[in-house]
Amino acid sequence: MIQGLPSLFISHGSPTLGQDDAPVRDFLRHLGQALPRPKAILVISAHFNAPIPVLTGAPHPETIHDFQGFPEELYAQQYPAPGSPVLAETMRQAIVRSGFEARVHPTRGLDHGAWVPLQLIYPAADIPVVQLSISMNQTPEWHYRLGKALASYRDEGVLIIGSGALTHNLRALFTARLELNSDAPDWVSTFADWVDEKTLTGDDTAVLNALEMGPHGLTNHPTPDHILPLFVALGASADGPRRLLHKSTTYGILRMDAFAFGAHVQAA
Ligand code: ZN
Repeated sequence: MIQGLPSLFISHGSPTLGQDDAPVRDFLRHLGQALPRPKAILVISAHFNAPIPVLTGAPHPETIHDFQGFPEELYAQQYPAPGSPVLAETMRQAIVRSGFEARVHPTRGLDHGAWVPLQLIYPAADIPVVQLSISMNQTPEWHYRLGKALASYRDEGVLIIGSGALTHNLRALFTARLELNSDAPDWVSTFADWVDEKTLTGDDTAVLNALEMGPHGLTNHPTPDHILPLFVALGASADGPRRLLHKSTTYGILRMDAFAFGAHVQAA
């Protein structure tokens, strides 16, 4: 048994994350070595939305290229990690025991919120990956409870990763067209720094209500999809140490911060 795997929140940014020469890429390339090797990975991706919790149960999940208008080479990339139908089913049962409805999808593959960062963290693609959906029609507290339902899997060697973005206003991103390593405007950095501070000081009420309570919350998240994975990761490790593993910005608008919850992590 592996003790003490944290749950993580990472910001996956643009689908070109692996091609972009930015500090977050170096951070993610070293992150896997800073963690005990997991037996399996559960990714809660901003790009998998469903009305009730859905786990992916495909034994060999396909790589989904769920983005448009990016360089051709991105569409040729594959992340051939195995799935784990057994883990998906046991997690489904754990979620149901916590009072949710849940189902396993037998064929869904890995979306880019999962495979783009995993290519950097675990490039060998030899650790089984299961995805769990978010629900845009559910509350932050609901996502926090969903994470809590799966917290015990950290002690069984499952690395739980919420993959979203600390800030994510795509309209501003496409309008501003800032350079890869541009500084963040004030409305981005003020909100992101506020969430960092509330998260690290354990003010989970503030974190869960960040879109309403945080400065420029709804401007940074016109829709909640990219912050909901943070709440699941937090719920999966509400007790124990918290650490800001990484803080940077890409394209001015996308803060790329990453957290570890519930277990100590060496500097990545
Ligand atoms: Zn995304």
